Amino acid sequence: MAKINPFEVAQRQLDECAKILKLDPGTHQVLRNPKREIHVTLPIKMDDGKVKVFKGFRVQYNDARGPAKGGIRFHPEETIDTVRALSAWMTWKCSLLDLPLGGGKGGIICNPKEMSPTELEKLSRAYIDQVWQLIGPEQDIPAPDVYTNPQIMVWMMDEYSKLMGKAQFGTITGKPLGLGGSAGRGDATARGGWYTIREACKFLGINLSKATIAIQGYGNAGYFAALLAKKFFGAKVIAVSDSKGGIINKDGLDPDKVNQHKTKTGSVINFPGTSPISNEQLLELKVDILCPAALENVITDKNVKNLKTKIVAELANGPTTPEADDILYKNGIHVIPDFLCNAGGVTVSYFEMVQNFYMYYWEEDEVYKQLDRKMTHAYQAVLKTSQDYKINMRKAAYVIAVKRVADAMKARGWV
Ligand code: GLU
Repeated sequence: MAKINPFEVAQRQLDECAKILKLDPGTHQVLRNPKREIHVTLPIKMDDGKVKVFKGFRVQYNDARGPAKGGIRFHPEETIDTVRALSAWMTWKCSLLDLPLGGGKGGIICNPKEMSPTELEKLSRAYIDQVWQLIGPEQDIPAPDVYTNPQIMVWMMDEYSKLMGKAQFGTITGKPLGLGGSAGRGDATARGGWYTIREACKFLGINLSKATIAIQGYGNAGYFAALLAKKFFGAKVIAVSDSKGGIINKDGLDPDKVNQHKTKTGSVINFPGTSPISNEQLLELKVDILCPAALENVITDKNVKNLKTKIVAELANGPTTPEADDILYKNGIHVIPDFLCNAGGVTVSYFEMVQNFYMYYWEEDEVYKQLDRKMTHAYQAVLKTSQDYKINMRKAAYVIAVKRVADAMKARGWV
């Protein structure tokens, strides 16, 4: 089967929104394409003394509402089109949450699981050496994404600060506490997602303390989603998975113990007291909430008819194809779309930048309160728009986000 191109998906989603908003063709064309793309070649002397050449990208999709913002992904299957799609979704995400930021994304084609810390540090610094003139708090602010973490952010921030000859904490977010990081950034994506799931459950009349959940992906978003499900609501996570496969226990899993097992063995599979389940089977489980929390294009026209969940909470970026979206809507499955559901990460990244600028750091409670306010507000606005226009939740999110960006471009005289 031909691979689905995430950027074509992002463009098709925009095209549908353009019709609803009756966007003029010029504005539509600008929004269909990234403003700027940077392609870099990164030669790294590996631990065995040999030079290996890596490819990297940074895409600044749109900065009409503020400097570009978005993570950097390290992944063996990274492509320029994936980065383009992710940078477009960042643009809509920051706009939907009404952050004063545009959208960007970066990526390096590499397999961090097979690299030593020294090699990863060299790669992180080499990337900044190539892009530093085009990033910064007033241009473009990177952050973590799939397979990047706070340590990688520190290396990047340090390299940028050295090149600038001064402390530049606000250039990269997702840094650790004590080095310009914000309280609450670690679990912000999952926590923000839960605030929207809580609102969706209120709307649908689902009692969260009795709800069952399946989570595809057990990285930063998936693990914390499982942890908070239990901690916040007493909800039961019955199945989780990662790239190697999944596990199920109808009586519920202990998210922390599963995480310890994954840290020790490299995967959630073979966790004692569970049965094996494939990633595909996990998506089709009869649960109240299904959280795709890994990569793009996992809910497609091939499997969507078999989904038995009430809510799809998209902690991943781009997990659902446009064909699948239409069927989910017809089947009455409530979708909390990616750039709403997973916006908690960039929202706390924005709080992190604010704290970096005024050199004063908030307590955790303050971060959570502000995050809850922003996420709840965005969810309610999307729900209302979906009801007013009689369109699905994703289209509703697009209508709000794209309109703001289009209005900003018009006011600035770009279109
Ligand atoms: N990579 C995350 C995302 O896709 C966070 C981006 C950020 O914090 O800038 O939203």
